[in-house]
Amino acid sequence: MMLKVGVVGTGMIGQDHIRRMTTVLAGVEVAAVTDVDMETAKKVAEGLPGATVHGSGEDLIADPEVEAVVVCSWGPTHEQYVLAAIAAGKQVFCEKPLATTEQACRRIVEAESAAGKRLVQVGYMRRYDEAYRALKAVVDSGRIGTPLMMHCAHRNASVPPHYAADMAITDTAVHEIDMVRWMFGEEIAAVRVLVPRKSRNGGDLQDPLFLILEMAGGALVDVEISVNIRYGYDIRGEVVGEDGTAALGEPSPVAVRAAHQLTAPVPADWRERFLRAYDVELQEWIDSIAGGGAPVGPSAWDGYAAAVVSDAGVAALRGGTRVEVSLMPRPALYEVSR
Ligand code: NAP
Repeated sequence: MMLKVGVVGTGMIGQDHIRRMTTVLAGVEVAAVTDVDMETAKKVAEGLPGATVHGSGEDLIADPEVEAVVVCSWGPTHEQYVLAAIAAGKQVFCEKPLATTEQACRRIVEAESAAGKRLVQVGYMRRYDEAYRALKAVVDSGRIGTPLMMHCAHRNASVPPHYAADMAITDTAVHEIDMVRWMFGEEIAAVRVLVPRKSRNGGDLQDPLFLILEMAGGALVDVEISVNIRYGYDIRGEVVGEDGTAALGEPSPVAVRAAHQLTAPVPADWRERFLRAYDVELQEWIDSIAGGGAPVGPSAWDGYAAAVVSDAGVAALRGGTRVEVSLMPRPALYEVSR
């Protein structure tokens, strides 16, 4: 049985997900595509025998041939497509962010709750990374005792010219925000953002930033965000427990000893570092919903919580103060979402 998927948004990640659904993953077929740029959508469809090109996301979602929807369009358009998929009773995988405002995420949570079943999964792929899963398995096993702190670093070699100040929180740190909620199995209660000396590599941008996330259970998480570090894409994480520590391993599968030096490659960017995580993420989504099942990955509630914490982070950055996170009551539908 092949799950027939329609893809809304055939930009960079849309094309990459289409590539993995057509050449890497099993049990899935791309049956339809659309994009505001019809020329791009048509060009992408040329490589997809039998795929329909629709004039809008709404038309694609209404297509009876489309059993499930993958939303890869620009963030501010996510809400309308996710709500349309929920209204049509179709499963929808939405690239992060779920939506760009707390209110929009809330509307999605409320619509899905009213539908009474899980239809939405959000593209927070770190939960599918082998190293993060191994780290969480150690934490959950109790081997290092109760987790007390986590040290994280998110380092990009560089960012494009349109990268604005808030994006360090809303686009970059948001991956750590989702990851630590999952790692600790609890919500984030408050956020602080400290501003270190500015890197000369960042131009006008305040880079790096240093976030402190207070978990509801009292653990503290620090996150270094450096987006012009030059040497490569480097993601770090170490959990400090009462009886030991556990850290993500080095991402390189090879270390070379030569000429009195020990060297290992550093990934160029997030595509290289998380290539396999994206494959696992979509395959597990397909496997979970094929045959009418419900998704088990990051939920609309997770997308909502990430948006609220991001907003708190932006407020903490702008105001220089500690900002508490205030979430709506969690609907019953999401009690078993993690
Ligand atoms: P992109 O290359 O700009 O692609 C977005 C595509 O959506 C573009 O082709 C855009 O067309 C199209 N689009 C915009 N509005 C639309 C609409 N109303 N209906 C249909 N298509 C529309 O951006 P991207 O880098 O692929 O990012 C897309 C989404 O994926 C973003 O939300 C981003 O945050 C997310 N993302 C997630 C990860 C991750 O690690 N999980 C990584 C990368 C991206 P135009 O260019 O003509 O506007």
